[in-house]
Amino acid sequence: MTGPLVPTQSLTHGNELNAVYAIARIVAESIDTESGLDAVFRLARTIFIFDVVALYLQNEEDGELEPIYARALGRGRSRAAELAWGEPAAREAYRSEQTVLRQEDAGPAVQGRDRRRDYLGLPMMVGGRCVGGLVFGRFGGPPYPPEHIRLAEFVAWHVGQLLENRRMARRIASLEAQRELARMQDEFISTISHELRTPLGFIKGYVTTLLRQDTAWDEETRKEFLTIIDEESDRLRELIDNLLDSSRLEAGTLSMTLEPTRISTVLRDTASRTLSLHPEMKLEIEIDDGLPAIKADATRIAQVLDNLLSNAHKYAPGATVTIRARMQGDAIRVEVADTGPGIHPEHVHHLFERFYRVPDDKHTARGTGLGLYICRKIIEAHGGEIGVESKRGEGTCFHFTLPVAPSPAENDDE
Ligand code: ADP
Repeated sequence: MTGPLVPTQSLTHGNELNAVYAIARIVAESIDTESGLDAVFRLARTIFIFDVVALYLQNEEDGELEPIYARALGRGRSRAAELAWGEPAAREAYRSEQTVLRQEDAGPAVQGRDRRRDYLGLPMMVGGRCVGGLVFGRFGGPPYPPEHIRLAEFVAWHVGQLLENRRMARRIASLEAQRELARMQDEFISTISHELRTPLGFIKGYVTTLLRQDTAWDEETRKEFLTIIDEESDRLRELIDNLLDSSRLEAGTLSMTLEPTRISTVLRDTASRTLSLHPEMKLEIEIDDGLPAIKADATRIAQVLDNLLSNAHKYAPGATVTIRARMQGDAIRVEVADTGPGIHPEHVHHLFERFYRVPDDKHTARGTGLGLYICRKIIEAHGGEIGVESKRGEGTCFHFTLPVAPSPAENDDE
Protein backbone atom coordinates (compact mmCIF):
# COMPACT_ATOMS: atom_id res chain seq x y z
CA MET A 1 0.00 0.00 0.00
CA THR A 2 1.27 3.50 -0.79
CA GLY A 3 2.03 5.91 2.05
CA PRO A 4 0.12 9.07 2.92
CA LEU A 5 0.55 12.04 0.61
CA VAL A 6 2.27 14.53 2.86
CA PRO A 7 0.98 18.03 2.16
CA THR A 8 4.43 19.64 1.99
CA GLN A 9 3.43 23.11 0.87
CA SER A 10 0.94 23.58 3.64
CA LEU A 11 3.24 22.48 6.45
CA THR A 12 4.62 25.94 6.76
CA HIS A 13 1.98 26.80 9.37
CA GLY A 14 2.24 25.32 12.85
CA ASN A 15 -1.48 24.69 13.19
CA GLU A 16 -1.53 22.74 9.91
CA LEU A 17 1.27 20.52 11.12
CA ASN A 18 -0.57 19.95 14.40
CA ALA A 19 -3.79 19.09 12.58
CA VAL A 20 -1.98 16.70 10.23
CA TYR A 21 -0.40 14.84 13.15
CA ALA A 22 -3.67 14.84 15.08
CA ILE A 23 -5.47 13.30 12.08
CA ALA A 24 -2.84 10.57 11.82
CA ARG A 25 -3.14 9.88 15.55
CA ILE A 26 -6.94 9.68 15.45
CA VAL A 27 -6.76 7.18 12.63
CA ALA A 28 -4.30 5.04 14.55
CA GLU A 29 -6.38 5.10 17.72
CA SER A 30 -9.98 5.04 16.42
CA ILE A 31 -12.08 2.02 17.17
CA ASP A 32 -15.42 3.45 16.10
CA THR A 33 -15.34 4.46 12.41
CA GLU A 34 -18.15 7.04 12.61
CA SER A 35 -16.67 8.99 15.51
CA GLY A 36 -13.21 8.64 13.90
CA LEU A 37 -14.57 10.22 10.70
CA ASP A 38 -16.23 13.01 12.72
CA ALA A 39 -12.94 13.81 14.43
CA VAL A 40 -10.89 13.65 11.19
CA PHE A 41 -13.24 16.02 9.33
CA ARG A 42 -13.48 18.42 12.27
CA LEU A 43 -9.68 18.68 12.25
CA ALA A 44 -9.50 18.81 8.45
CA ARG A 45 -11.74 21.87 8.53
CA THR A 46 -9.15 23.74 10.57
CA ILE A 47 -6.66 23.43 7.68
CA PHE A 48 -8.81 23.83 4.60
CA ILE A 49 -12.33 25.10 4.06
CA PHE A 50 -15.26 22.95 3.03
CA ASP A 51 -18.96 23.23 3.82
CA VAL A 52 -20.05 19.68 3.25
CA VAL A 53 -18.35 16.31 3.13
CA ALA A 54 -19.71 12.92 2.14
CA LEU A 55 -18.31 9.46 1.77
CA TYR A 56 -19.74 7.02 -0.77
CA LEU A 57 -18.80 3.37 -0.77
CA GLN A 58 -19.38 0.56 -3.17
CA ASN A 59 -22.31 -1.55 -2.17
CA GLU A 60 -21.39 -5.22 -1.85
CA GLU A 61 -24.41 -6.51 -3.76
CA ASP A 62 -24.42 -4.53 -7.00
CA GLY A 63 -21.21 -2.47 -6.79
CA GLU A 64 -23.19 0.82 -6.91
CA LEU A 65 -21.98 3.69 -4.75
CA GLU A 66 -24.05 4.54 -1.73
CA PRO A 67 -23.56 7.27 0.87
CA ILE A 68 -22.36 5.90 4.20
CA TYR A 69 -21.45 9.18 5.86
CA ALA A 70 -22.30 12.85 5.30
CA ARG A 71 -21.81 16.00 7.33
CA ALA A 72 -22.54 19.65 6.72
CA LEU A 73 -20.05 21.68 8.70
CA GLY A 74 -20.24 25.15 7.20
CA ARG A 75 -22.61 27.02 4.92
CA GLY A 76 -25.62 25.03 3.80
CA ARG A 77 -25.94 23.14 7.07
CA SER A 78 -29.70 23.00 6.43
CA ARG A 79 -28.97 20.94 3.32
CA ALA A 80 -27.20 18.21 5.23
CA ALA A 81 -29.89 15.69 4.43
CA GLU A 82 -29.50 15.99 0.67
CA LEU A 83 -26.95 13.38 -0.06
CA ALA A 84 -27.24 13.41 -3.81
CA TRP A 85 -25.07 16.55 -4.16
CA GLY A 86 -21.78 14.71 -4.00
CA GLU A 87 -22.67 11.70 -6.11
CA PRO A 88 -21.39 12.88 -9.53
CA ALA A 89 -17.97 13.85 -8.10
CA ALA A 90 -17.77 10.64 -6.04
CA ARG A 91 -18.63 8.49 -9.05
CA GLU A 92 -16.12 10.26 -11.27
CA ALA A 93 -13.32 9.90 -8.69
CA TYR A 94 -14.26 6.26 -8.10
CA ARG A 95 -14.27 5.37 -11.80
CA SER A 96 -11.11 7.26 -12.75
CA GLU A 97 -9.28 6.62 -9.45
CA GLN A 98 -8.16 10.25 -9.77
CA THR A 99 -8.88 13.44 -7.88
CA VAL A 100 -11.61 15.37 -9.70
CA LEU A 101 -12.82 18.94 -9.48
CA ARG A 102 -16.38 19.83 -10.44
CA GLN A 103 -18.00 23.20 -10.52
CA GLU A 104 -21.78 23.42 -10.46
CA ASP A 105 -24.46 26.05 -10.50
CA ALA A 106 -27.13 25.30 -7.89
CA GLY A 107 -29.68 27.19 -9.99
CA PRO A 108 -31.74 30.32 -9.44
CA ALA A 109 -33.52 28.82 -6.42
CA VAL A 110 -30.35 29.52 -4.42
CA GLN A 111 -29.74 33.19 -3.84
CA GLY A 112 -26.38 35.00 -3.84
CA ARG A 113 -22.88 33.59 -3.68
CA ASP A 114 -24.02 30.15 -2.46
CA ARG A 115 -25.25 29.39 -5.96
CA ARG A 116 -21.74 28.45 -6.97
CA ARG A 117 -20.61 25.00 -5.81
CA ASP A 118 -17.11 23.56 -5.96
CA TYR A 119 -16.82 19.83 -5.42
CA LEU A 120 -13.58 18.00 -4.86
CA GLY A 121 -13.92 14.26 -5.42
CA LEU A 122 -11.21 11.86 -4.22
CA PRO A 123 -10.92 8.13 -4.87
CA MET A 124 -11.29 6.08 -1.69
CA MET A 125 -8.54 3.49 -1.55
CA VAL A 126 -8.84 0.62 0.95
CA GLY A 127 -6.39 -2.28 0.98
CA GLY A 128 -4.99 -1.14 -2.40
CA ARG A 129 -8.41 -1.16 -4.05
CA CYS A 130 -10.65 1.76 -4.98
CA VAL A 131 -13.89 1.18 -3.04
CA GLY A 132 -15.63 4.53 -3.34
CA GLY A 133 -15.28 8.28 -3.35
CA LEU A 134 -14.90 11.04 -0.79
CA VAL A 135 -16.33 14.43 -1.72
CA PHE A 136 -15.69 17.83 -0.17
CA GLY A 137 -18.07 20.61 -1.22
CA ARG A 138 -17.55 24.34 -0.92
CA PHE A 139 -20.42 26.78 -1.47
CA GLY A 140 -19.83 30.24 -2.93
CA GLY A 141 -16.15 29.80 -3.87
CA PRO A 142 -13.31 30.38 -4.03
CA PRO A 143 -12.27 27.24 -5.96
CA TYR A 144 -9.94 24.75 -4.27
CA PRO A 145 -6.29 25.84 -4.66
CA PRO A 146 -3.64 23.11 -5.30
CA GLU A 147 -2.40 23.09 -1.67
CA HIS A 148 -5.93 22.40 -0.44
CA ILE A 149 -6.22 19.59 -2.94
CA ARG A 150 -3.01 18.10 -1.48
CA LEU A 151 -4.46 18.42 2.03
CA ALA A 152 -7.73 16.81 0.92
CA GLU A 153 -5.75 13.91 -0.61
CA PHE A 154 -3.89 13.52 2.66
CA VAL A 155 -7.22 13.41 4.55
CA ALA A 156 -8.66 10.93 2.02
CA TRP A 157 -5.68 8.60 2.50
CA HIS A 158 -6.30 8.61 6.25
CA VAL A 159 -10.03 8.04 5.82
CA GLY A 160 -9.03 5.01 3.74
CA GLN A 161 -6.92 3.84 6.69
CA LEU A 162 -9.91 4.21 9.02
CA LEU A 163 -11.97 2.06 6.68
CA GLU A 164 -9.13 -0.45 6.43
CA ASN A 165 -9.08 -0.64 10.24
CA ARG A 166 -12.82 -1.27 10.20
CA ARG A 167 -12.42 -4.00 7.59
CA MET A 168 -9.70 -5.67 9.67
CA ALA A 169 -11.75 -5.38 12.89
CA ARG A 170 -14.74 -7.03 11.16
CA ARG A 171 -12.55 -9.77 9.78
CA ILE A 172 -11.05 -10.45 13.22
CA ALA A 173 -14.54 -10.49 14.78
CA SER A 174 -15.75 -12.98 12.20
CA LEU A 175 -12.68 -15.19 12.69
CA GLU A 176 -13.20 -15.05 16.45
CA ALA A 177 -16.86 -16.00 16.02
CA GLN A 178 -15.84 -18.96 13.86
CA ARG A 179 -13.27 -20.04 16.43
CA GLU A 180 -15.79 -19.72 19.25
CA LEU A 181 -18.25 -21.83 17.26
CA ALA A 182 -15.62 -24.50 16.65
CA ARG A 183 -14.73 -24.45 20.35
CA MET A 184 -18.40 -24.83 21.34
CA GLN A 185 -18.81 -27.72 18.90
CA ASP A 186 -15.77 -29.47 20.35
CA GLU A 187 -17.02 -28.92 23.88
CA PHE A 188 -20.44 -30.18 22.84
CA ILE A 189 -19.03 -33.35 21.33
CA SER A 190 -16.92 -34.07 24.39
CA THR A 191 -19.83 -33.37 26.80
CA ILE A 192 -22.23 -35.49 24.79
CA SER A 193 -19.79 -38.35 24.37
CA HIS A 194 -19.14 -38.33 28.10
CA GLU A 195 -22.84 -38.15 28.91
CA LEU A 196 -23.69 -41.01 26.54
CA ARG A 197 -20.80 -43.12 27.64
CA THR A 198 -21.62 -42.97 31.35
CA PRO A 199 -25.03 -44.72 31.26
CA LEU A 200 -23.78 -47.06 28.54
CA GLY A 201 -20.84 -47.99 30.77
CA PHE A 202 -23.20 -48.86 33.63
CA ILE A 203 -25.51 -50.88 31.39
CA LYS A 204 -22.68 -52.81 29.79
CA GLY A 205 -20.96 -53.41 33.16
CA TYR A 206 -24.04 -54.75 34.95
CA VAL A 207 -25.21 -56.86 32.01
CA THR A 208 -21.74 -58.45 31.70
CA THR A 209 -21.75 -59.12 35.44
CA LEU A 210 -25.17 -60.74 35.32
CA LEU A 211 -24.12 -62.91 32.39
CA ARG A 212 -21.09 -64.30 34.15
CA GLN A 213 -21.31 -68.10 34.23
CA ASP A 214 -19.10 -68.53 37.26
CA THR A 215 -21.28 -66.63 39.74
CA ALA A 216 -24.81 -67.19 40.91
CA TRP A 217 -26.53 -63.98 41.98
CA ASP A 218 -29.22 -64.02 44.63
CA GLU A 219 -32.60 -62.58 43.68
CA GLU A 220 -32.08 -59.30 45.59
CA THR A 221 -28.72 -58.54 43.94
CA ARG A 222 -30.10 -59.44 40.51
CA LYS A 223 -33.00 -57.07 41.08
CA GLU A 224 -30.66 -54.31 42.23
CA PHE A 225 -28.51 -54.70 39.08
CA LEU A 226 -31.55 -54.81 36.81
CA THR A 227 -32.93 -51.66 38.45
CA ILE A 228 -29.67 -49.87 37.71
CA ILE A 229 -29.78 -51.08 34.09
CA ASP A 230 -33.40 -49.91 33.85
CA GLU A 231 -32.60 -46.45 35.26
CA GLU A 232 -29.53 -45.97 33.11
CA SER A 233 -31.46 -46.98 29.98
CA ASP A 234 -34.07 -44.35 30.88
CA ARG A 235 -31.31 -41.83 31.29
CA LEU A 236 -29.85 -42.74 27.90
CA ARG A 237 -33.23 -42.42 26.22
CA GLU A 238 -33.86 -39.08 27.95
CA LEU A 239 -30.51 -37.82 26.77
CA ILE A 240 -31.12 -38.80 23.17
CA ASP A 241 -34.64 -37.32 23.32
CA ASN A 242 -33.22 -34.06 24.65
CA LEU A 243 -30.62 -33.95 21.91
CA LEU A 244 -33.22 -34.57 19.23
CA ASP A 245 -35.64 -32.02 20.74
CA SER A 246 -32.89 -29.48 20.96
CA SER A 247 -31.88 -29.80 17.32
CA ARG A 248 -35.52 -29.81 16.19
CA LEU A 249 -36.19 -26.70 18.27
CA GLU A 250 -33.16 -25.01 16.77
CA ALA A 251 -34.33 -25.94 13.27
CA GLY A 252 -37.92 -24.92 14.09
CA THR A 253 -39.27 -28.38 13.22
CA LEU A 254 -40.53 -29.50 16.63
CA SER A 255 -44.28 -29.69 16.33
CA MET A 256 -46.59 -28.56 19.14
CA THR A 257 -50.18 -29.62 19.42
CA LEU A 258 -52.03 -26.85 21.18
CA GLU A 259 -55.24 -28.12 22.70
CA PRO A 260 -57.48 -26.89 25.54
CA THR A 261 -55.53 -27.93 28.62
CA ARG A 262 -56.10 -27.78 32.36
CA ILE A 263 -52.80 -26.67 33.70
CA SER A 264 -53.67 -27.71 37.26
CA THR A 265 -54.07 -31.31 36.06
CA VAL A 266 -50.72 -31.21 34.28
CA LEU A 267 -49.08 -29.82 37.43
CA ARG A 268 -50.58 -32.44 39.74
CA ASP A 269 -49.78 -35.33 37.38
CA THR A 270 -46.19 -34.21 37.03
CA ALA A 271 -45.84 -33.77 40.79
CA SER A 272 -47.07 -37.29 41.49
CA ARG A 273 -44.79 -38.73 38.82
CA THR A 274 -41.83 -36.94 40.40
CA LEU A 275 -42.81 -38.23 43.86
CA SER A 276 -43.03 -41.79 42.59
CA LEU A 277 -39.48 -41.44 41.23
CA HIS A 278 -38.13 -39.58 44.28
CA PRO A 279 -40.37 -40.41 47.27
CA GLU A 280 -38.00 -38.58 49.63
CA MET A 281 -38.63 -35.22 47.92
CA LYS A 282 -40.45 -32.55 49.95
CA LEU A 283 -42.93 -31.32 47.37
CA GLU A 284 -45.69 -28.78 48.04
CA ILE A 285 -48.43 -27.65 45.69
CA GLU A 286 -50.26 -24.31 45.82
CA ILE A 287 -52.62 -23.95 42.89
CA ASP A 288 -55.28 -21.21 42.81
CA ASP A 289 -58.84 -22.37 42.23
CA GLY A 290 -60.64 -21.60 39.00
CA LEU A 291 -57.69 -21.25 36.65
CA PRO A 292 -59.03 -21.05 33.09
CA ALA A 293 -58.24 -23.71 30.51
CA ILE A 294 -55.48 -22.68 28.12
CA LYS A 295 -54.41 -23.73 24.66
CA ALA A 296 -51.28 -25.74 25.28
CA ASP A 297 -49.38 -28.88 24.39
CA ALA A 298 -49.87 -30.77 27.67
CA THR A 299 -47.03 -33.23 26.96
CA ARG A 300 -44.56 -30.44 26.32
CA ILE A 301 -45.65 -28.44 29.38
CA ALA A 302 -45.25 -31.62 31.44
CA GLN A 303 -41.76 -31.92 29.95
CA VAL A 304 -40.94 -28.38 31.18
CA LEU A 305 -42.20 -29.21 34.68
CA ASP A 306 -40.40 -32.57 34.74
CA ASN A 307 -37.23 -30.76 33.88
CA LEU A 308 -37.62 -28.06 36.53
CA LEU A 309 -38.49 -30.64 39.17
CA SER A 310 -35.65 -32.96 38.22
CA ASN A 311 -33.27 -29.97 38.36
CA ALA A 312 -34.59 -29.09 41.83
CA HIS A 313 -33.93 -32.70 42.84
CA LYS A 314 -30.42 -32.67 41.34
CA TYR A 315 -29.21 -29.20 42.32
CA ALA A 316 -31.18 -28.55 45.51
CA PRO A 317 -31.09 -31.97 47.24
CA GLY A 318 -33.07 -32.14 50.46
CA ALA A 319 -34.74 -28.77 49.82
CA THR A 320 -38.44 -28.08 49.97
CA VAL A 321 -39.85 -27.60 46.47
CA THR A 322 -43.06 -25.68 45.94
CA ILE A 323 -45.12 -25.69 42.75
CA ARG A 324 -47.40 -22.64 42.50
CA ALA A 325 -49.88 -21.53 39.86
CA ARG A 326 -52.01 -18.37 39.73
CA MET A 327 -53.36 -15.82 37.31
CA GLN A 328 -51.10 -12.93 36.33
CA GLY A 329 -52.86 -10.51 33.99
CA ASP A 330 -53.96 -12.48 30.93
CA ALA A 331 -51.70 -15.43 31.65
CA ILE A 332 -51.22 -18.25 34.10
CA ARG A 333 -48.00 -17.96 36.04
CA VAL A 334 -46.37 -21.17 37.21
CA GLU A 335 -43.49 -21.26 39.67
CA VAL A 336 -41.18 -24.05 40.77
CA ALA A 337 -39.34 -22.74 43.82
CA ASP A 338 -36.78 -24.53 45.93
CA THR A 339 -35.00 -23.69 49.17
CA GLY A 340 -31.68 -25.01 47.80
CA PRO A 341 -28.22 -23.44 47.49
CA GLY A 342 -29.22 -20.89 44.84
CA ILE A 343 -27.24 -19.87 41.74
CA HIS A 344 -24.49 -17.28 41.54
CA PRO A 345 -25.76 -14.08 39.77
CA GLU A 346 -23.07 -14.30 37.05
CA HIS A 347 -24.62 -17.55 35.77
CA VAL A 348 -28.29 -16.68 36.09
CA HIS A 349 -28.54 -14.86 32.72
CA HIS A 350 -26.98 -17.76 30.84
CA LEU A 351 -29.04 -20.62 32.26
CA PHE A 352 -31.48 -20.77 29.34
CA GLU A 353 -28.72 -20.90 26.71
CA ARG A 354 -28.10 -24.15 24.87
CA PHE A 355 -25.45 -26.32 26.63
CA TYR A 356 -24.93 -23.84 29.46
CA ARG A 357 -24.06 -25.45 32.77
CA VAL A 358 -22.89 -23.76 35.97
CA PRO A 359 -19.20 -24.73 36.05
CA ASP A 360 -19.24 -25.77 39.76
CA ASP A 361 -22.11 -28.20 39.15
CA LYS A 362 -20.35 -30.02 36.31
CA HIS A 363 -18.67 -32.38 38.74
CA THR A 364 -21.50 -32.93 41.21
CA ALA A 365 -24.48 -33.65 38.96
CA ARG A 366 -24.76 -35.14 35.50
CA GLY A 367 -26.29 -33.11 32.73
CA THR A 368 -25.84 -31.56 29.31
CA GLY A 369 -27.10 -28.00 29.78
CA LEU A 370 -29.97 -28.68 27.38
CA GLY A 371 -32.87 -28.91 29.85
CA LEU A 372 -33.52 -25.23 30.51
CA TYR A 373 -32.90 -24.32 26.88
CA ILE A 374 -35.62 -26.79 25.85
CA CYS A 375 -37.92 -25.37 28.57
CA ARG A 376 -37.45 -21.83 27.23
CA LYS A 377 -38.15 -22.85 23.64
CA ILE A 378 -41.31 -24.75 24.63
CA ILE A 379 -42.65 -21.85 26.71
CA GLU A 380 -41.85 -19.35 23.96
CA ALA A 381 -43.68 -21.55 21.44
CA HIS A 382 -46.74 -21.10 23.68
CA GLY A 383 -46.35 -17.31 23.60
CA GLY A 384 -45.15 -17.25 27.21
CA GLU A 385 -42.00 -16.22 29.01
CA ILE A 386 -39.67 -18.10 31.31
CA GLY A 387 -37.37 -16.64 33.95
CA VAL A 388 -35.53 -17.35 37.15
CA GLU A 389 -34.80 -15.60 40.41
CA SER A 390 -32.16 -16.97 42.69
CA LYS A 391 -30.40 -15.99 45.87
CA ARG A 392 -27.28 -17.74 47.12
CA GLY A 393 -28.05 -19.64 50.31
CA GLU A 394 -31.80 -19.07 50.03
CA GLY A 395 -33.02 -20.85 46.94
CA THR A 396 -34.10 -20.62 43.33
CA CYS A 397 -37.46 -19.91 41.76
CA PHE A 398 -38.05 -20.77 38.10
CA HIS A 399 -41.24 -19.24 36.73
CA PHE A 400 -43.07 -19.16 33.42
CA THR A 401 -46.24 -17.72 32.01
CA LEU A 402 -48.73 -19.26 29.62
CA PRO A 403 -51.21 -16.90 27.95
CA VAL A 404 -54.84 -17.83 28.42
CA ALA A 405 -56.47 -19.08 25.23
CA PRO A 406 -59.36 -16.97 23.93
CA SER A 407 -61.89 -19.62 25.00
CA PRO A 408 -63.73 -18.08 27.98
CA ALA A 409 -66.34 -20.84 27.90
CA GLU A 410 -63.92 -23.49 29.12
CA ASN A 411 -63.06 -23.02 32.75
CA ASP A 412 -60.87 -25.15 34.91
CA ASP A 413 -63.36 -25.96 37.63
CA GLU A 414 -61.38 -28.51 39.59
P1 ADP B 1 -28.31 -29.70 33.08
O1 ADP B 1 -29.13 -30.01 34.28
O2 ADP B 1 -28.30 -30.77 32.07
O3 ADP B 1 -26.95 -29.21 33.43
P2 ADP B 1 -30.14 -27.46 32.61
O4 ADP B 1 -30.27 -26.60 31.37
O5 ADP B 1 -31.36 -28.17 33.04
O6 ADP B 1 -28.96 -28.46 32.29
O7 ADP B 1 -29.61 -26.55 33.79
C1 ADP B 1 -28.54 -25.65 33.58
C2 ADP B 1 -27.81 -25.38 34.87
O8 ADP B 1 -28.65 -24.64 35.75
C3 ADP B 1 -27.45 -26.62 35.65
O9 ADP B 1 -26.21 -27.13 35.19
C4 ADP B 1 -27.40 -26.12 37.09
O10 ADP B 1 -26.10 -25.65 37.35
C5 ADP B 1 -28.33 -24.92 37.10
N1 ADP B 1 -29.60 -25.19 37.82
C6 ADP B 1 -30.77 -25.58 37.25
N2 ADP B 1 -31.74 -25.69 38.18
C7 ADP B 1 -31.18 -25.37 39.36
C8 ADP B 1 -31.68 -25.27 40.71
N3 ADP B 1 -32.94 -25.55 41.01
N4 ADP B 1 -30.80 -24.86 41.68
C9 ADP B 1 -29.52 -24.58 41.38
N5 ADP B 1 -29.00 -24.64 40.12
C10 ADP B 1 -29.81 -25.03 39.14
